[in-house]
Amino acid sequence: MMQNPDSLLIVDDDSRNRELMGRRLNKRGFQTFSVGDGNEALAWIDANPVDLVLLDVEMPGLGGMDVLKEVRKKFTAAQLPVIMVTGKADSSDIVAALDAGANDYVTKPIDFPVVLARIQTQIERKHTEDALRKSEERYALAMRAANDGLWDWDLQSGAIYFSPRWKSMVGEEEDALGDSPEEWFGRIHPDDVERVRADIQAHIDGQTPHYEDEYRVLHKDGTYLWMLGRGLAIRDKNGKAYRMAGSQTDITRGKVVDFLTGLPNRVLFMDRLSRSFERVRRRRDRTFALIFMDLDNFKLINDSLGHMVGDQLLVAIARRLESTVRSSDSVARIEHHTIARIGGDEFTVLLEDVAGPLDAIRVTDRIISDMGAPFVVDGHELFPTASIGIAVYNHSYQSPDALLQDADMAMYSAKVAGKGRYEIFDTEMRAASVARLQLETEFRRAIERNEFENYYQAIVSFKTGRIYGFEALVRWRNATRGIVPPMEFIPMAEETGLIIPLGQWVLETACRQTSQWQARFPQDPPLSISVNLSARHFLQSDVLQQCTDIMKKMPLARRSLVLEVTESTLMKDHDASIELMGKLKDFDIRIAMDDFGTGYSSLSYLHQFPFDNLKIDRSFIIRLMEDDEIVRTILTMGHNLGLKVVAEGVETLSQVDKLKEMECDYGQGYYFSKPVATREATALLEAQSGLSFIPPADALAGEAAVTADAMR
Ligand code: C2E
Ligand code: MG
Ligand code: MG
Repeated sequence: MMQNPDSLLIVDDDSRNRELMGRRLNKRGFQTFSVGDGNEALAWIDANPVDLVLLDVEMPGLGGMDVLKEVRKKFTAAQLPVIMVTGKADSSDIVAALDAGANDYVTKPIDFPVVLARIQTQIERKHTEDALRKSEERYALAMRAANDGLWDWDLQSGAIYFSPRWKSMVGEEEDALGDSPEEWFGRIHPDDVERVRADIQAHIDGQTPHYEDEYRVLHKDGTYLWMLGRGLAIRDKNGKAYRMAGSQTDITRGKVVDFLTGLPNRVLFMDRLSRSFERVRRRRDRTFALIFMDLDNFKLINDSLGHMVGDQLLVAIARRLESTVRSSDSVARIEHHTIARIGGDEFTVLLEDVAGPLDAIRVTDRIISDMGAPFVVDGHELFPTASIGIAVYNHSYQSPDALLQDADMAMYSAKVAGKGRYEIFDTEMRAASVARLQLETEFRRAIERNEFENYYQAIVSFKTGRIYGFEALVRWRNATRGIVPPMEFIPMAEETGLIIPLGQWVLETACRQTSQWQARFPQDPPLSISVNLSARHFLQSDVLQQCTDIMKKMPLARRSLVLEVTESTLMKDHDASIELMGKLKDFDIRIAMDDFGTGYSSLSYLHQFPFDNLKIDRSFIIRLMEDDEIVRTILTMGHNLGLKVVAEGVETLSQVDKLKEMECDYGQGYYFSKPVATREATALLEAQSGLSFIPPADALAGEAAVTADAMR
């Protein structure tokens, strides 16, 4: 490419000097023009493009210094270099000239090699500046100069200049930072720095038209910012880069980064996921995996220790996650990964280029075990756990979103399965979640249509052989599903909160029925009614108010209402439970601990809570004939605490005999009666009132058998 020769303006009142200099510079490839005084010089500069001015200081009329001052009003030293020619080597003159904006000076008599070298230096600098300016224009650097940090790297000396704005972007003062490139690279995120170096080198080597990259830079405050870096190398005539300059733009906001942790946010994560998706569609041998992690009970930390601690914990978890995943890259032979925070306490890890689910499991195992070490935040030692879902790409996936959804679903089933663990997504899981959603929809409709019915199961006194009371057990009668047992919908109802309206209905219906039975079948003590209360119903709705309202509406014998709660319910809120139980007792409402023995701190709980009844779980009664130690212990302890003990799931006569011998108070089970509808329960009471003259202690077995037969 032909370049225009550089045009020099020689300003000298001595025509001989002008000619001599002009001729010699022409020979060196410069285009020269010359004028004889200051005013002419200014007029020429105004009208013509000039690359450099060689300006004599001492001229009649407008002197060199005055011309310089005028020139500098219009052009910077970079735009139009001026070399002063002074008659004497007077240092004060020279200082004044440089102060006024001269780029350089030479003294008379002119030593041509010296002036040539200085002219070349200045011209070269001007080219550099022009190139820079062009690159700046290309990238609209000038427009954003106020916001962008600029850098200028001398590739020969290795020194790099950072603009004050560049420094302030990373939280540093104007006079901080040296001129080493490490000031920059040392702040770049470890996951990005190699790529940035490679991209810059590629441009220096002439492989790319310009340098451009996105990377994270560590701010002094410890957070990472996302930067868009751009730059252009300046090359000599042989194309060798000797200098490179560029800019850095903060693109953190709204773009890709999670402010808190410095990790990619959902936007960037989805972008990376889409790219993996596209890449892997073209390959058959490798795949990629998605790990979806949700902290367990994170809200609890926020609520109890405050958001500041919660935030710091999230940051600490992000850091630990990074080191875990990075260290397992080699173990699982993973090429690249992306860790992101895509929601409050949700983190995702994209593992690219894995062989299959095993690689993802290896990483997940490490995440779970590394999470096990305590996090010390603000003086608190915290042990957060996470539920993790894994989804592995296969070619049936139509979109990245579908993969994310499946990982989310797997995470959810890890939560349901007990938290602090992982699940891998499979198609059964998808089917199960569709089914669950359907169940929920139908259940809501069932509440509107009142498709529920209470069944009643007799609780029989071992001492008298008579029905002491009933337990209400709810049934859902659905047109298509038939009778749905509670275990199939109670967990969903509990989770959605629908258990509260349902529980209230069960409570009121059971009480109304019982008050009618009590009127028709008076006995001493009056017939009791046991109602199961779920944790949510017990702790999150005003149970006391509900009970007293019911008792105002209908006559219900004193002490005949028993609320059944499980240990896990009480564990959810120990103090609130004790308080509520106390108040219920004041209203003569009794409390039974249901399914006793299935929890883990049962024995101590008996002392702590004011129970009236204790129901031994069916699992102990099943083993009763082989091993009666546990039941014996429970009975002794319960009686010592003044509790009445009910054996659940009594199915055989030998169990009845054994329990009687052990002085258990009450029994409930198929041996006496299955849970039955109201009409059949009424029939049981009728039958019993007819048989009430039989001496109970001796006739117990026979009577019970009759009762059970009647129900079959
Ligand atoms: P639960 O409170 O422990 O109720 C006893 C369960 O054991 C009942 O199952 C009953 O049918 C069953 N059962 C009783 N005797 C025997 C026996 O001899 N052999 C066998 N194999 N099973 C026996 P069901 O009715 O399916 O209820 C299951 C659970 O659902 C209940 O356990 C209770 O926790 C819950 N539930 C039932 N109704 C309600 C309700 O209205 N509200 C709430 N929150 N939970 C309820
Ligand atoms: Mg129960
Ligand atoms: Mg039970």
